[in-house]
Amino acid sequence: MSETLPTRYDFASAEARWYEFWEKKGYFKPRPGKGKFVVMMPPPNITGILHMGHVLNNTIQDVLVRWHRMRGEETLWQPGIDHAGIATMNKVEQEIAREGKTRFDVGRDEFVKRTWAWKERYGNTIIEQLRRLGSSADWENLVFTMDPAYSRAVLTAFVELFNAGLIYRGKRLINWCPRCKTALSDDEVEHEDTPSHLWYIRYPLADGEGHIVVATTRPETYLGDTAVAVNPDDKRFAGLVGKRVRLPLVNWERKDTEGKPVPPEIPVIANRAVDPGFGTGAVKVTPAHDPVDNEIARETGIPLVQVMDEDARMTENAGPFAGLTREEARERIVAELEKAGFLEKTEDYTVPLGTCYRCRTPIEPLLSEQWFVRMKELAGPATEAVRSGKVRIIPSYGEKIFFNWMDNIRDWCVSRQIWWGHRVPVYYCDECGEVFASVDAPEGCRRCGSAKVRQDEDVLDTWASSWLWPFATLGWPENTERLRKYYPGDVLVTGWDILYLWVARMMMAGARFMGEMPFHTVYLHGIVRDERGRKMEKSLGNSPDPLDLFRQYSVDGVRMGILFITPEGRDVLFSVKSAEIGRNFANKLWNAGRLVLLNAGGRFAGLPGSMRLEDRWILSRLERAISETTRLLGDYEFNSAVRTLYEFLWADFCDWYLEAIKPRTQSGDRSGVDVALFVLEAYLRLLHPFMPFITEELWQALPNKSGESIMISPWPEPTGMSDPDAESRFSLLQEMVSGVREIRGTFGVPRSAKLSLVFRDSRDALALARENLALLGFLAGIEGVSESDEAPAGSALIPSKVFEAYVPLSGVIDTGKEKARLEKEIAELSAQVERIRARLSDPNFLDKAPQEVIREQKARFADMATKLERLRGQLERL
Ligand SMILES: [Zn+2]
Ligand SMILES: [Zn+2]
Repeated sequence: MSETLPTRYDFASAEARWYEFWEKKGYFKPRPGKGKFVVMMPPPNITGILHMGHVLNNTIQDVLVRWHRMRGEETLWQPGIDHAGIATMNKVEQEIAREGKTRFDVGRDEFVKRTWAWKERYGNTIIEQLRRLGSSADWENLVFTMDPAYSRAVLTAFVELFNAGLIYRGKRLINWCPRCKTALSDDEVEHEDTPSHLWYIRYPLADGEGHIVVATTRPETYLGDTAVAVNPDDKRFAGLVGKRVRLPLVNWERKDTEGKPVPPEIPVIANRAVDPGFGTGAVKVTPAHDPVDNEIARETGIPLVQVMDEDARMTENAGPFAGLTREEARERIVAELEKAGFLEKTEDYTVPLGTCYRCRTPIEPLLSEQWFVRMKELAGPATEAVRSGKVRIIPSYGEKIFFNWMDNIRDWCVSRQIWWGHRVPVYYCDECGEVFASVDAPEGCRRCGSAKVRQDEDVLDTWASSWLWPFATLGWPENTERLRKYYPGDVLVTGWDILYLWVARMMMAGARFMGEMPFHTVYLHGIVRDERGRKMEKSLGNSPDPLDLFRQYSVDGVRMGILFITPEGRDVLFSVKSAEIGRNFANKLWNAGRLVLLNAGGRFAGLPGSMRLEDRWILSRLERAISETTRLLGDYEFNSAVRTLYEFLWADFCDWYLEAIKPRTQSGDRSGVDVALFVLEAYLRLLHPFMPFITEELWQALPNKSGESIMISPWPEPTGMSDPDAESRFSLLQEMVSGVREIRGTFGVPRSAKLSLVFRDSRDALALARENLALLGFLAGIEGVSESDEAPAGSALIPSKVFEAYVPLSGVIDTGKEKARLEKEIAELSAQVERIRARLSDPNFLDKAPQEVIREQKARFADMATKLERLRGQLERL
């Protein structure tokens, strides 16, 4: 036990030292206790690099698990890491590209081997970084989604759904990334408004009577049109429905997906899906390349003509355009249509361009054979769980979004044409045509016994493994002890962006395979954005490296800072200033701890038998901080909890209490220091979940700690020292001190000048001031208090709702000079106030200025107006 601490807190050393200590002691493992608390860490990708989103997500989880652990619950924070199919393949493909090769040159087996090697080399980076953050997860049980046991779970789930008829293969229009050469689910497509055009193309009527003009954003696909559609209620086209139009330029044979020829004369049909307000009201129908058109084809039976392939190049059906890329084809086709007089006009138009969420390549809707999961059947219990309140989503407006998605749920395309992942466990018999699913590779066909069976080439969507996370990490499908003990868990902490992709699916999987929801609470935090509200992205250079921030501001500083600025349930506008706030707070805490320890002389004498007002006050404030923090954590209000703790230390403890006990301590009375030790010890435990390192470092130095680590010491309980009377009395003293300090500032009264207080009609306040005159003297330089029936001339009034007290200033300052100074200040200030008032009533300004500027001006106006009023009052009194 050291009696003094170094002047400066060496956070880097403390972080390394304590993390190692905690881990060596096994504190991160669940320890038997009363009750249980289980959190599943959203597994980062093996390609992941720690960003501010991870920092926020894992800080919140760490706060929760450290809190529950201190409350004596058996606490498991289950960590893991995701194989991230497409993302990881991209990394290895980049490596191979440097050798001038593609993955197809290398071959499947070799490619998978290289991907494992990549994983061994780089895959643990993010885990190391999460450890730097102080995360107290059960690292010994780290799970990787491609571990043999986990893989078995993925295949077991697939086979079970397959055998239950919930998985089917179908040729469907799916989102295709021509670069990754794989299908993507709807949720893996990002839409971005992109400037483009609307082309108006003339389709001549087959009977020679004029033409119909259709508007399209994708002229290159018109070669695959098999109809023109109009809305049935659109009177403009009433006579045309049932007629045929001729596709311009097409004088070659097109074939549909079954190989049947499709003529260039196509019907005009009526369909409710057509928006009469778009373009001319007539649209081309290209069922092989557009999801809406695909639906129309399904209803009407019109054929599907595919004009683009998996490389996004034009097919044979495109006649002379075959072999062109989609971009080349667009340019050529528009030019030829124009040359031949079929292009009526071109307009500027913004399209919500869909791009691959991994590589940003524009996706192509493409017909493809894929595996699908029937979701309607699985969605029911998950929806019901949220509706009945069995699963709570925080903030509650997340539920609306959840229901909206669940009510419109579509079948899930789970196959991907990539090589890194769990291979679809479906086998085809070349002998008898049997198709069956099996977890283990079969010896032969389950129907005819033939050895000529081949496995499906596709692998499963990454989410088709992570949707099993809450139980596959615990050993499912084996009935392990961990599974029995820790399923279902408690809270899932994640971002809005994966509510559908992951959270909803985990609930469906939980209901289906475990018969129980995997958690009772989903806590959704906002996305971390930059100060201007933009998403943080490498290309924008607005995404700070958390490890740099750790080095500069300490891990605790960054953790505290980000929670300090994260509004509950909304996006976070992150700036480095927040880390500064955290670091400054850590310094404040360090200095406070140092001062108390310095005066404690290495021992704690217990709480004093008789206590002064300020002692009873700080103990009552502590009591309040304990119950507030506990309540706020229970309500997942991390921001308010952090602010409560911040205020307590900074204002109550440092600014008031440590100041108030100085005279006592200096005179050799240690009672104040003992109270301070008591408060500090409990406070450090309250703060520990948020700032684990500095709290441990300080706590270990306290003479009144008990136990081997703050991490496993009990969460502070209310001590019964709540004292509302002491709080209200002390707050009156605070008003007096602050009032006098402000008057000193306003009138430039030197620090050394002693002042007095004159009360009028304020018996209780007067008595209180008399009793605490020593304190008032030390904190505000008050050397006397008295009473008067009238406001003394030449005095300043202390603003208070409870008492009326004056500080006489004649003789202390030159009132004439002060009056003149005040008058000048008032004149300047009122001129400024007028200028702002004029600006704020100028409609031109209000129209054009950004909202934040207007808000800022209004706030300034209010501030200045108040100040002006106060100065006028002061002047009057003089
Ligand atoms: Zn892609
Ligand atoms: Zn067979």
